[in-house]
Amino acid sequence: MLAASASLLNIDVVILDVGESAPAKQIIAPRLPALTHVDGSFADPEKIRQLACKVDVITVEIEHVDVTVLKEIESTPGTRAVIHPSPSTIAVIQDKFEQKTYLHTNGCPVSEFVKVEQTIESIKATAAQLGLPFMLKSRTLAYDGRGNFVVRTLDQAGDALQTLSNRPLYAERWVSFIKEIAVMVVRTTDGDVVSYPAVETVHKDNICHLVFAPLRSHDPLVASRAQRVAESAIQTLQGAGVFGVEMFLMQDGTIYINEIAPRPHNSGHYTIEACHASQYENHLRAILGLPLGSTTLKVPSAAMLNIIGSSTSMDPIQAFTTTALAIPGCTVHLYGKSECRRGRKMGHVTLVADTDADLRTRLRPLLSALPVPST
Ligand code: ATP
Ligand code: MG
Ligand code: MG
Repeated sequence: MLAASASLLNIDVVILDVGESAPAKQIIAPRLPALTHVDGSFADPEKIRQLACKVDVITVEIEHVDVTVLKEIESTPGTRAVIHPSPSTIAVIQDKFEQKTYLHTNGCPVSEFVKVEQTIESIKATAAQLGLPFMLKSRTLAYDGRGNFVVRTLDQAGDALQTLSNRPLYAERWVSFIKEIAVMVVRTTDGDVVSYPAVETVHKDNICHLVFAPLRSHDPLVASRAQRVAESAIQTLQGAGVFGVEMFLMQDGTIYINEIAPRPHNSGHYTIEACHASQYENHLRAILGLPLGSTTLKVPSAAMLNIIGSSTSMDPIQAFTTTALAIPGCTVHLYGKSECRRGRKMGHVTLVADTDADLRTRLRPLLSALPVPST
């Protein structure tokens, strides 16, 4: 999606990813031999150095990159490539315990959290401090809830440690939120921030399922408060680009930050069809020092629905796509991933409508057509 936005502005993009037909490489053919994509892992220092030799600006669309080599590139005299967001920002964010500590230290609202060791005693001490249930989380390499374990009783301590074995851990107090919200924030190279409207995100089995834009709430000020919380957090970080800020809304109106993504985010996919400038276009503009596009909605109501693999077969996804293509206001995005797997994000659809009621009417057949995992 970033490559698609770049192609509209004649911006050359060199992709580092495994395989010659990795999804982003399917979008942009190199214009010159010097701009050939790199075949390798975003965690491989040598491949990252190779990429750095080819480009003016490096950016990430996943935070689990080798940040040590990014810091090395940043501090090497004479290196042409600048890195956005800053490697120090990526480093703080990729360790969720460091991230929470950073946010707390910088006055951003987060719920209670505590470091946990890989021992039963530590799990018991955590339960005594946070109460039950609590959320045990891997500090690193987490996504789509893979790395989370809800500890409901002390009997589960062994199971939790086994599930998250060999991973550095921390725990969070259980947050009984009434809604999850997200705000995409764009940070310029000058450190100015501007945000997209607050949206409601709905998770199923820890994976983002649905996004509704804009956020609807009985309290009309919640949305702007969420934008201020998100903007203040991103203002404290270094480097340019788009950041996704996930938040919890409590019954009494309190907002906590759950976590930050230092890149365009799933909860901002709706911006492609629903906002004047998408998160991808604004990410590019921000990291290249170009004027930003408007972050406002250009439709009254929008939703995003993730297409999650139900098995190794693409057939249910093709069937869903056929249904989606017949619905007015619906745009399908399939990601070109080579393999379908249960629980894997294979694409998404965006719906736009003139009213919330029309949106719900259009959403219903889509929800019924989603691939369902066989049990
Ligand atoms: P991703 O990066 O894909 O958003 P992740 O693996 O980093 O996901 P989290 O965002 O930490 O995982 O958690 C996933 C979901 O689990 C949240 O969106 C929320 O629904 C739930 N959750 C996380 N932390 C808590 C908590 N402390 N209390 C209650 N629910 C929580
Ligand atoms: Mg995460
Ligand atoms: Mg999350």
